[in-house]
Amino acid sequence: MRADRATSAAHIRLLPQFLKLYLPLAALVALAAVLLGIIQQNTRIEAIKGQQVNLVRLEREVLETDLLAHVADAVFLARLTSLTMQNPTMLVPLKHVLREAFVHFSQSQRVYDQVRFLDATGREVVRINLKQGKALAVAQEQMQHKVSRYYFAAGLAMDQGQVYVSPFDLNLEQGKLETPLKPTLRFVSPVALPGGGKAGVVVLNFLGDRLLDRLRRASREGENKIFLVNQKGWWLVGPSPELEWGHAISERATFSMPSAFQQAWQSIAPEDQGQVLTPQGLFTYQSVALMEKAQAAGSPIPPTRMDDHWWIISRVPPEVLSLPWLPAMYLICAGVLALLAGVVWLWAAARVRRALAESAAQRDQRRLEFITNTAQDAITLVDSQDKVQFWNLAAERLFGYRREEAMGQGLHQLVAPSEQHGGIARGLEAFSRTGQGPIFEGRREVLAKRKDGSLFPAEVSASAFSLDGQWYAAGSVRDITAHKRDEEALKRLANTDGLTGVLNRRRFMELSRQEVARSQRYAGALSLIMLDVDHFKAVNDSYGHETGDEVLVSLAKVCRKVLRQVDLFGRVGGEEFMALLPETGLAAAAMVAERLRVETASQQVSQSQPQVRVTISLGVAQLAPGMRLTDLMRAADDAMYRAKQKGRNLVETGEGDEAGRTPAPGEND
Ligand code: GH3
Ligand code: MG
Ligand code: MG
Repeated sequence: MRADRATSAAHIRLLPQFLKLYLPLAALVALAAVLLGIIQQNTRIEAIKGQQVNLVRLEREVLETDLLAHVADAVFLARLTSLTMQNPTMLVPLKHVLREAFVHFSQSQRVYDQVRFLDATGREVVRINLKQGKALAVAQEQMQHKVSRYYFAAGLAMDQGQVYVSPFDLNLEQGKLETPLKPTLRFVSPVALPGGGKAGVVVLNFLGDRLLDRLRRASREGENKIFLVNQKGWWLVGPSPELEWGHAISERATFSMPSAFQQAWQSIAPEDQGQVLTPQGLFTYQSVALMEKAQAAGSPIPPTRMDDHWWIISRVPPEVLSLPWLPAMYLICAGVLALLAGVVWLWAAARVRRALAESAAQRDQRRLEFITNTAQDAITLVDSQDKVQFWNLAAERLFGYRREEAMGQGLHQLVAPSEQHGGIARGLEAFSRTGQGPIFEGRREVLAKRKDGSLFPAEVSASAFSLDGQWYAAGSVRDITAHKRDEEALKRLANTDGLTGVLNRRRFMELSRQEVARSQRYAGALSLIMLDVDHFKAVNDSYGHETGDEVLVSLAKVCRKVLRQVDLFGRVGGEEFMALLPETGLAAAAMVAERLRVETASQQVSQSQPQVRVTISLGVAQLAPGMRLTDLMRAADDAMYRAKQKGRNLVETGEGDEAGRTPAPGEND
């Protein structure tokens, strides 16, 4: 029942205990994982950002270098044409000279679909087409009028030495899109006349595929895509070829950077360069603008006009930006958390169990203290080194040491008389090894010492027990001073006469027997005096029984005064007493008897009746070899009888002969 309650209590407290331990730990682990993830993610994104900026810059620089080469070509051809016109030869017509030069140029460059000279009216004067890598001059009759084409007007408007670069476009042939698509970029430079004015323009139709293909190759599989986008956001190099040229092909009008990546485009459109991270990926972009760069650098690049400008844009898709191992790490983290939960659960369970055990132990301890504190006996516990481990209230009272003073002290150092310490130390040594020995065994009476140094008799009952490989002894100590006193009183009561306080008959006989035996063994002298009050009946009759008692008490007192300490004296009958005198011969004993007789006779024996006088008759006998106590007593008794016979108040000696007789005064009456 109690165990059940304890178990259910453990369950009730286990969950909060578990949560208390687990939640902070779990939060810490989760936080660490998330932080690590974020840091790693950011590090990766920063690395990719830097790499993409470099990549885009490189592409832009290559593209610009490429374009500037064509700008230079246009300027060169315009100048060549102008010079040729200034110095005409008579032999060959101007047109032929130019045609030869242009063919030669086109053939050597092999990047221009057309190389043309248009006169100031927009009429083609020289036109070199590139067919399968061969430069071919177009016949006179196939020449066209290009006055209405935008690039003619724009080119003619430029100053000498300047170049107009057209928007990227698809080539039209006789007003229709040429297929396969032919992306074209036109470089147009005016041809100056010697006297001022313009003779026309040189037009280079650059085959853009070469340039665009290089950008397409820069797209790295699975990592990033490189786009080329024009000012309005149409794809020149797009996510895929069929999305490109939306501005030139009406069926593709809906495909553009703004519609595909709206959020990114909002950042890109107003900026020359930059980087933007959107849910659709990381976009890194730089614009291509020859004009500004030429002017800014103050370089020999000819002033150029570009109606359009382009962005090189790289896009890194979100899946590349995110760390591939991040989900695995979170999964491992979840596993760690689960494992941690298990471990912490066990830990919490152990803590709860220990707490319960501790509280149970504390309860038991309190109970034990309560019980032992109500005990009258001192209760103590010592370890194998005799160090006090337990000390109840009664022990405090009995020995005078408070609990704090006693705990940890050597018990016997505290409470045993110092002269016993040596023996106790040996006993303790044996006890610590074996758990046995006299000091902690059974019930004994000992002399114990209080804090103030006073000694008292104590009854100790102790027993040893072993716990965790160590010996302990528990014991109770009781003060038996009162008990001892009572015992003494009882003994005295049993051995003495209640009225006179001298030995009673039984005790007198007992001690006398021992003296007789000792005397027989060592052949020492021993004498016995027997005495009886004379006419005591008459005292009783005349003065009352109480006065008689008073007389007996006085008589005993007188006799004890006369006798030595070693002499035994007892009341052996109503008013009969005996005295046994060790190491005393008959003559000496007779003298003692005489003193007894004289002292008695001269004493006032009653306080209440001062006139009362008593005498005693005494018989003295000496122990002879072979005699027993009864023989000695009979001999003394006989002598006393004779004293009575002879008139009382007399001392008679054992042999009965006259020599031993001491006559009393007035004997002859
Ligand atoms: P005697 O010995 O001289 O022959 O005469 P007696 O009168 O002493 O005679 P006996 O020894 O026979 O008498 C003893 C008397 O002592 C009898 C009894 O009344 C009295 N007696 C004995 N014990 C006590 C006692 O304890 N107190 C008192 N007051 N009297 C006692
Ligand atoms: Mg008598
Ligand atoms: Mg008598």
